[in-house]
Amino acid sequence: MSPYRKLKSSDWTKSLLFIGIYVAVISVTAFILLVTYWFVWLAIVAAGLFLIVLWHKKSTAYHCPKCDNEFEISFLTDFFSPHGVTKNRGGWTYLKCPKCGNTTKMEILVKKKEIATEAEK
Ligand SMILES: [Zn+2]
Repeated sequence: MSPYRKLKSSDWTKSLLFIGIYVAVISVTAFILLVTYWFVWLAIVAAGLFLIVLWHKKSTAYHCPKCDNEFEISFLTDFFSPHGVTKNRGGWTYLKCPKCGNTTKMEILVKKKEIATEAEK
């Protein structure tokens, strides 16, 4: 039994919510902090970005379309890899498969055990 599942629309909602909060916090704090305390603002921007990527790394896995391997990636790989969205609301990340060595668009999966809010649906 795979510990991963495919992306659902509620996953997109959650991601957009996180990013929305992040952008809102940055915008609001920019007005308050930017002139005098710009370094505090930069710290908030960096910390927020770090948290979002960390959350993304911890909650996602990838499926190789060539060999059906399912794998997870490191924080830095996640941060620097190109991400995209498919027409049918799936997601992809451009990665190298650790098993077969193909570099292609990997299908994004969600870790089941990390989803604590599953009961909401
Ligand atoms: Zn592979």
